[in-house]
Amino acid sequence: MSTATKSKNGKVASSNGKATMKQDPIVAETGLPTEANNLYTETVSTMLHAAELMNLPRYLRLILAQPKNEIMVHFPVQMDNGQFKLFKGYRVQHNNALGPYKGGLRFHHDVHLDDVKSLAFLMTMKCSLVGVPYGGGKGGIKVNPREHSASEMERIVRRFTAAIAHNIGPDYDIPAPDVGSNSQHMAWIADTFSFLSEIGGDNPAAVITGKPVSYGGSLGREKATGQGVVDTLVEMLPELKLKPEKCTFSVLGFGNVGSWSAKIFQEKGAKLTAAADHTGFIINEKGIDADDLAKYVSSKGGVAGYPKASKCSKDDFYKAKVDVFIPAALEQMIKEPEAHMLNCKVVAEGANAPTTPAGEKVMLDRGIEVLPAILCNAGGVTVSYFEWVQNKTFQAWDLEKVDAELNKHMVKAAHKTRAARGQYKCDLRTAAYVAALQRLAEAYEVRGIFP
Ligand code: GLU
Repeated sequence: MSTATKSKNGKVASSNGKATMKQDPIVAETGLPTEANNLYTETVSTMLHAAELMNLPRYLRLILAQPKNEIMVHFPVQMDNGQFKLFKGYRVQHNNALGPYKGGLRFHHDVHLDDVKSLAFLMTMKCSLVGVPYGGGKGGIKVNPREHSASEMERIVRRFTAAIAHNIGPDYDIPAPDVGSNSQHMAWIADTFSFLSEIGGDNPAAVITGKPVSYGGSLGREKATGQGVVDTLVEMLPELKLKPEKCTFSVLGFGNVGSWSAKIFQEKGAKLTAAADHTGFIINEKGIDADDLAKYVSSKGGVAGYPKASKCSKDDFYKAKVDVFIPAALEQMIKEPEAHMLNCKVVAEGANAPTTPAGEKVMLDRGIEVLPAILCNAGGVTVSYFEWVQNKTFQAWDLEKVDAELNKHMVKAAHKTRAARGQYKCDLRTAAYVAALQRLAEAYEVRGIFP
């Protein structure tokens, strides 16, 4: 039999060493999945813990526990060999109290409805925290982009756009890139949507952000999430008595977010000593040049075989002594075993939900500071907002303006998070949720609930 004790952060540690969040009655009332480790239930439960701490009105907890709309589509696409394949796509619209639904499109062979729901929920929280006038949404296609030619991907993306075209729009729901999708995909979506809505709107390309700069994209959008990770680190490290220029760091996932975080953190003087992705784990205590590694990864498809570092085991990667660890891959990668192995002072969450509640408990007990994703990786959606503003006003900002405005949003969000931590004496993730929920609560209070 396992006994459970309540710790100061309200999480329950059971005697079998697993930490679980005390289940809020709203989880059962709103019919959230009950199976262990369900990402959606985990994510919402963490928010409900913050809601309890700040005494958020019950009706708001109910509203936020489930998305407003869950759209699932199936669509056929002809492959290069003439055969048809049926694809599954999603768009989840979690909340639009603060503005249009906003959030990326994930192209991954393993994407499920609950993942998309969690990610949409996180977008509501992130947009609220970082002070942009958006709600939260997320979508995706169950597809492995690496298995398809460019022309197959173009047909898949265009047909998916047609399938969801009636449910998105420049003032209603604005998708963007996420894991597996890129600016070329965004261009095909903008073009398809513009074609389908020729007589509507001033600038139909504002239906999507993360477009190429040559087609309404913003300077600085490609690096924006990584830039935001580093802006957050620069803002938060001094209170932990760490100087960016003296830091060593490791990165999990060397795609858009991981590689840009590494390149920009390196520009501040920090030293990358270990990296990992789906192809393998590499280490070099003397330092790995992030620009050189990024070039290698874009030509070879992964970090494996990088000649200027040594191959290492997964355990050696996690045990590498660094100041900062940046998980920038997928969700739920830092569970208890990984959290026990980590030998760092700070985790900067570049990915969405990379840490499980049980993994986080281990890290907090070990004195590792966790900079939560809704703060740390909010740079992407912030510059998406700038892109949308530029599209709507037919302007093109220079990079200095984009970077300066992004920094203002990141620093302000960090201040709000710190203030909530001071007020409620909680960890940073709970504090970030409190700050996000405060803005949503204010909006609901004045809006009221129709009818
Ligand atoms: N997919 C990114 C995120 O998770 C960006 C979303 C956006 O730009 O709308 O934050």
